[in-house]
Amino acid sequence: MSIILIPIGKVNPADITMLEEPLEAVFSRAVVTGKRIALPAAARNAARNQYDAEVMLEFLSLSGETAGYDRVLGVTDVDLYLPGMNFVFGLAGRRNAVISLHRLRQSFYGLPEDTEVFRRRAIVEAVHELGHTFGLPHCEDPRCVMHFSNTIVETDRKGPAFCMVCHPRVKTGEAARR
Ligand SMILES: [Zn+2]
Ligand SMILES: [Zn+2]
Repeated sequence: MSIILIPIGKVNPADITMLEEPLEAVFSRAVVTGKRIALPAAARNAARNQYDAEVMLEFLSLSGETAGYDRVLGVTDVDLYLPGMNFVFGLAGRRNAVISLHRLRQSFYGLPEDTEVFRRRAIVEAVHELGHTFGLPHCEDPRCVMHFSNTIVETDRKGPAFCMVCHPRVKTGEAARR
């Protein structure tokens, strides 16, 4: 019962390893970082200069690196989108999830860089997408990590913690069985 983090494309290794401890604490599982894999060319949309999150997820499930782990989180620095959406912070399937760090930096919004703010956002998005893989749906509580976020303001409003309703579902594994 453990989670593997997979860097996809060029990602600062420190930005990934810093996710390990917080994720271990939240999900009560060992979290390790695997070998970096290349960006899948098939996911790239040249016109949008973005990568299709769905294709990224499929690509992750094909990676032999992830065998033996019960959850997989791909972490990339490229911008992700889904058809019909301008962008997504991340996407989750049943076992695999992916997050993008692209829009989590203050510099993306024309502000001075702030590592602490950036890392908090990355943890929030990582917990959110992995939360989906444990069967948790979106939550109405705007402060719960499972609240849907389509803007960085919404990401900042919620913390990396589950609300009282969502929290026990992860701990007991109830959500994973559904
Ligand atoms: Zn979500
Ligand atoms: Zn909740």
